[in-house]
Amino acid sequence: MSADLHDLSVAELAKKLQGRQVSASEAAQHFLARSRQHATLGAFLALDEEATLAQARAADARIASGDRAPLLGVPVAHKDIFVTRDFPSTAGSKMLQDYRSPFDATVVRKLAEAGAVTLGKLNCDEFAMGSSNENSAYGPVKNPWDPSRIPGGSSGGSAAAVAARLAPAATGTDTGGSIRQPASFCGITGIKPTYGRASRYGMIAYASSLDQAGPMARSAEDCALLLSAMCGPDPDCDSTSLDLPAEDFTRALGGSMEGLRIGVPKEFFAEGVAADVRAAIEGALREYEKLGARRVEISLPRTELAIPVYYIIAPAEASSNLSRFDGVKFGYRAKKYGDLLDMYRKTRAEGFGEEVKARIMIGTYVLSHGYYDAYYLQAQKVRRMIADDFQRAFQQCDVIAGPVAPSVAWKLGGHGGDPLADYLADIFTLPGSLAGLPGMSIPVGFGEGGMPVGLQLIGNYFQEGRLLNAAHGFQQATDFHLCKPEGF
Ligand code: GLN
Repeated sequence: MSADLHDLSVAELAKKLQGRQVSASEAAQHFLARSRQHATLGAFLALDEEATLAQARAADARIASGDRAPLLGVPVAHKDIFVTRDFPSTAGSKMLQDYRSPFDATVVRKLAEAGAVTLGKLNCDEFAMGSSNENSAYGPVKNPWDPSRIPGGSSGGSAAAVAARLAPAATGTDTGGSIRQPASFCGITGIKPTYGRASRYGMIAYASSLDQAGPMARSAEDCALLLSAMCGPDPDCDSTSLDLPAEDFTRALGGSMEGLRIGVPKEFFAEGVAADVRAAIEGALREYEKLGARRVEISLPRTELAIPVYYIIAPAEASSNLSRFDGVKFGYRAKKYGDLLDMYRKTRAEGFGEEVKARIMIGTYVLSHGYYDAYYLQAQKVRRMIADDFQRAFQQCDVIAGPVAPSVAWKLGGHGGDPLADYLADIFTLPGSLAGLPGMSIPVGFGEGGMPVGLQLIGNYFQEGRLLNAAHGFQQATDFHLCKPEGF
């Protein structure tokens, strides 16, 4: 029976756990074994059988005592950007090698309260900076659909683990696309909620005005279950968390697609979008029309500007956030150094990877006296205009749809270490991030090399329910989300 535990959805597994057809300990053991068996994917940075099984036994005790928490006993793996007490937290960086947090991130704590059992920590780009997971200090992650390709990033380990059925679900973080793009590249479902929905406390900071946590799973239904547990105000620990009551997003599912106005931005179909991606997205839009949705042409005229704006604002915030890694209080410290300044210099030179250092330098530059107005301030103004464009668009439509990325997952090393090639591929996820809007990716087809293609759905603020419902409607009518890579 346990042979196909990994093919169950979160909803199905949770039901079996509550019905005591399987114990949390058995489920944990099953997924731990799979994760070890497929270790060459590089998805996990840390597994700790004892820690996981201790949590699973506690979940079993809760089940036995009649606790009905929605995720009781469900194994969930966390992106290594979330700090955890029971596991190391590295952010994919040598700077935090072997670092142990004295507390759990709020999202981790909330999922644990809902009953989730931590399966381990997942590989990611260093400090979540990247689009391919190749910026991890601990090696790249392989895409389960084709191990010669990247899984996307920065939540590459999360996407690969879920696609390969090593975990029923995972957490991710999205600053400029890091949930949506790897979900798209690995053929799974992921949602980044409205900025502020989930607490950022204990999420190792990259760009604080953009960072958001979200779930990655195989279906919209599973994402709804997880997101409901992850969201909610956290006034004591994150003042930017929204003062909105926790919502049960599963209640939004099951609504009709009849009359749903789907806005299709013409800028999302500009040249540069690969033909295979275009074809899969067109197919998905036709499916929505069959289900009763109406297609509306819209315009997001500043789409291209999102790239320079984001790659000014995000590094600016990163340069400030990452100043805390100085070798004094925690994390890596250079072994040999002279005076204090030399210790700082060597620690940061040795502890950070190339891309992180490049961003710290860019960020410091755009914030420096004399350049601040020309770059950072200007970028903030355009950011506001991008957000306004979305508000105009939402007067004509209920959700916006388009590609997540211009191509399917590229080959490992395919961008030849050229960071600009990575940046450009973020074009369709950055606008929504800059506006703070919720966005998701759902699998809608396959392209070149049999690689999955994701459809991006963007909603207006606080419209996660509507987004999840639209995604669920599609998944009720199609089975792309049930396809799995060979060998898993
Ligand atoms: N690829 C983008 C970057 O490198 C987005 C990363 C993210 O969302 N964390 O910044």
